[in-house]
Amino acid sequence: MNVQTQIDKASPRTTEHFDVLIAGAGISGVGAAYHLTTQCPGTTFVALEAQKTFGGTWTTHRYPGIRSDSDLHTFGYRFKPWTTAPIASAAEILKYMGDVIEENDLAPHIRYQHTITSAKWSSEENLWTIEATRTDTGEKLRFTTNFFWMCQGYYRHTEGYTPEWTDMAKFKGLIVHPQKWPEDLDYKNKRVIVIGSGATAATLIPAMANDCAHVTMLQRSPTYFRTGRNAIEIAEQLRQLQVDEKWIHEITRRKILFDQDAFTRKTFEEPEAAKKDLLSAVEAYLGKDYDIATHFTPRYRPWRQRIAFIPDGDLFQGIKSGKASVVTDEIDRFTEKGILLKSGKELEADIIVTATGFHLCANGDIEFAIDGKPLDFADTVTYRGMMFTGVPNLVWVFGYFRASWTLRVDLVADFVCRLLTHMKETGARKVTPQLRPEDHNMPLLPWIDPENFNPGYMMRGMHLLPKRGEKPEWQHNQDYWAEKDEFPAIDLKDKAFVYG
Ligand SMILES: Cc1cc2nc3c(=O)[nH]c(=O)nc-3n(C[C@H](O)[C@H](O)[C@H](O)COP(=O)(O)OP(=O)(O)OC[C@H]3O[C@@H](n4cnc5c(N)ncnc54)[C@H](O)[C@@H]3O)c2cc1C
Repeated sequence: MNVQTQIDKASPRTTEHFDVLIAGAGISGVGAAYHLTTQCPGTTFVALEAQKTFGGTWTTHRYPGIRSDSDLHTFGYRFKPWTTAPIASAAEILKYMGDVIEENDLAPHIRYQHTITSAKWSSEENLWTIEATRTDTGEKLRFTTNFFWMCQGYYRHTEGYTPEWTDMAKFKGLIVHPQKWPEDLDYKNKRVIVIGSGATAATLIPAMANDCAHVTMLQRSPTYFRTGRNAIEIAEQLRQLQVDEKWIHEITRRKILFDQDAFTRKTFEEPEAAKKDLLSAVEAYLGKDYDIATHFTPRYRPWRQRIAFIPDGDLFQGIKSGKASVVTDEIDRFTEKGILLKSGKELEADIIVTATGFHLCANGDIEFAIDGKPLDFADTVTYRGMMFTGVPNLVWVFGYFRASWTLRVDLVADFVCRLLTHMKETGARKVTPQLRPEDHNMPLLPWIDPENFNPGYMMRGMHLLPKRGEKPEWQHNQDYWAEKDEFPAIDLKDKAFVYG
């Protein structure tokens, strides 16, 4: 490499300008691109994506059996019907997203292998300056944009979260995190322990069970699951009647969302009855003699953590067949042969999979600054979980936990497009959320109430997230059923929006 090349790589020579710049081309970024082309035609925009291709979560996770844990009628966009079984593999989701890109000619707007490293706002120019590095060539690039649409997800894609257990290095077998699944991992006839009992464990275990000598799901405490047929009755009936797929998609979405809202309310109002519903479905697969109290009865109220859907009860079928089993215990330390539990029992394994979760990453590891001052999102208050006090012309897509993430992708997109149109019509060049005089005495609280929703990665990373207020406009309330009506009614002239 000669000196000239080094200089070129270190400092961008040109700056490209776009009206809107999107971070990421996962389900959120591709959705944002679609809505911009349809709702704000003529707006120039680019999506910068660190990976080699689109899909985000669905390309970076490559473990056996990788699939959605919520239905694709609602995890799919509202504008593109999902026409097959509701729980889908990563490959099917990627095919669906690829079709959205192709059908709407979005490819020219997406640049892959572009990692955004910094985003700096200048009030003098009313612009964000975004710097990115090409992961293939190392070249540094500079962009300016009026509006920064953060669709970079909520966790770090480069590495997952693995707790530090005593003597991990002593284990003679292989330790694998699902986020870094080795392409050539041979688990045939191997003894496997999967640590964790979230959606990832529940996916991996049935996918591996038939090939392994045995799979053990080792959990410190149990998780709730929903289970049933991988089919939605109303969609099947409408399909039999040869109803148009667009209608089927819309009607099925409404039915699912209505039922989900009713169930969510039940978890708050009659938690014991909701718990019974979930546990009796598990019992139907495992039988009365199985120790459901120990292995599948969490200590928390249903919906305080995400509830994964287990299609056709495949996890439970694996347990019933004896190919898989559950151990509820705590890890004392690793040994040469496996894991020593606090109960004194030793579990032996050839492979240990740490399905122990994510590193929360609120800002895509992007260095932010406003007028030269570093920005820490934890110092801001969120406007409805998508904008932040003192941060101009920026929206972040943070979806739902109790409903499909994508429902909020569509809702936030409608809001952004309405806001951009309003700014164009009024000649505003910037919009900054700001607490109104009546909000100043409002107590500021963590992003989400742990009583409401408290998975490990949220608890570990809560200090990194913006604050919430106690009024609905100053929080992400995780309630699609309410927000579907509230978002379109947001008054863009409200004093919470300061235009300039
Ligand atoms: C295994 C798994 C299964 C899941 N299943 C479901 C489900 O069934 N239903 C559901 O509702 N939710 C599910 N989730 C949550 C899921 O992450 C979201 O629903 C959704 O896929 C997130 O989409 P996204 O586009 O917002 O973010 P991501 O999928 O995380 O995509 C973000 C993209 O931004 C890119 N990016 C990040 N930082 C930068 C940067 N600095 N510069 C450039 N690019 C950047 C990343 O490379 C990535 O491609 C699941 C999560 C996991 C991990």
